[in-house]
Amino acid sequence: MHSFEYRNGTLFCENVDLAQLAIKTGTPTYVYSAETILDHYRRLDQALQEVPHLICYAVKANSNIGILNLFAKENAGFDIVSGGELFRVLKAGGKAAQCTFAGVGKTEAEIREALEHGILAFNIESEAELARINRVAATLDVKAPIAVRVNPDVDAHTHKYISTGKSENKFGIAFERVLGVYEAASKMSHIAIRGVQMHIGSQITKAGPFAEAVDKMLPLVNQLKELYGIEYFSIGGGMGIVYDPSLASGAAGWWENEADESLLTLEAYAGAIVPKLKTLGLKILVEPGRFMVGNAGVLLTQVQYIKKTETKKFVIVDAGMNDLIRPALYQSFHEIVPVTKNHPYGEAEKADIVGPVCESGDFFAQDRELPPIAEGDILAVMSAGAYGATMSSNYNSRRLPAEILVHGERAEVIRKRQTLDDLIDGESIPQ
Ligand SMILES: *Cc1c(COP(=O)(O)O)cnc(C)c1O
Repeated sequence: MHSFEYRNGTLFCENVDLAQLAIKTGTPTYVYSAETILDHYRRLDQALQEVPHLICYAVKANSNIGILNLFAKENAGFDIVSGGELFRVLKAGGKAAQCTFAGVGKTEAEIREALEHGILAFNIESEAELARINRVAATLDVKAPIAVRVNPDVDAHTHKYISTGKSENKFGIAFERVLGVYEAASKMSHIAIRGVQMHIGSQITKAGPFAEAVDKMLPLVNQLKELYGIEYFSIGGGMGIVYDPSLASGAAGWWENEADESLLTLEAYAGAIVPKLKTLGLKILVEPGRFMVGNAGVLLTQVQYIKKTETKKFVIVDAGMNDLIRPALYQSFHEIVPVTKNHPYGEAEKADIVGPVCESGDFFAQDRELPPIAEGDILAVMSAGAYGATMSSNYNSRRLPAEILVHGERAEVIRKRQTLDDLIDGESIPQ
């Protein structure tokens, strides 16, 4: 579900009028629905009820402490990829003991901090990292809990920048080498083997790749359980969401036409993997990011100018690729709608919706059919809750947008818009 709908021609987030909110807070502004996030979390929790499990929310999708706090209050775990993310989780009231630490480049300082806080486990991405963790743990005189990230070499049928489970990706350890790494780990004095992990990619809209990866992993997982008494199998995240409702007509599919972005329902996802996972008798960890927060957020932006050239119409808005980089980085689609519908002027027309940043890649949509739109109108870029604010930057010395969390009638600022002084915070002119 998501909690954005029109009421009398005005877009609401839960019970908050987004036209009024945009006037009050200015633009660009991210708005998130707490109800949507909690609904997604609780429904996934429900769908996995037949196996013992822990949902570790992937912090990088949206790391605002106001969002993390929602998960902390549900007693969720967290999947982190840096010491900074661990810091955020702790500030938000999350438990280190429920954090898994992923990523190919963990530094010594990050490893030490994670050990001091007592995280659930490190996901090992290389033999060199395993050796380093053993060394750091020895200096602290503790045993570092680990799971090896296996690269199952399956095709997730997703964009090449967000596909992670193919052998040519930098992530994880090749299937053939995994047992060797576990054997080495078992001989290390300051390593405690706890589990095994995989993560095949992001924005996966079919259940098939998940089922294929689980099938491939099951014999190995059983073997690791026997050999090393592992306690859990983490199946990663990557569940896709619908960005383009016009493509989402089909029901959840199994190896359907790849171009079609049908909704991956929780029933299809869980139905494809839970029966297989049940046979293991292990705790199952899942690490969803996008699925939890993607459809729960929009980016509000105001139309600054309408510019017509010989061949094109441009709608120039006050949000840019620095606020939401997904279209520029992944050629990704975002639905864009006016916050107030049914203006009397003009006819629907095709236009490029572009930002003010000095880059040709600074667009949100190209040749998009839009209802009549005029200078001053507020637009909502939909499904911007994941990999939106977390990937924003100050490029072009643009201030980071405000972020607002809506719950029922309440709209609370969970990140205030940066000030001009924030832009140069920490900078200085040499004496
Ligand atoms: C990014 C990431 C996730 C979350 O991916 P989503 O597609 O947002 O669900 C989960 N696990 C790991 C290891 C990741 O790197």
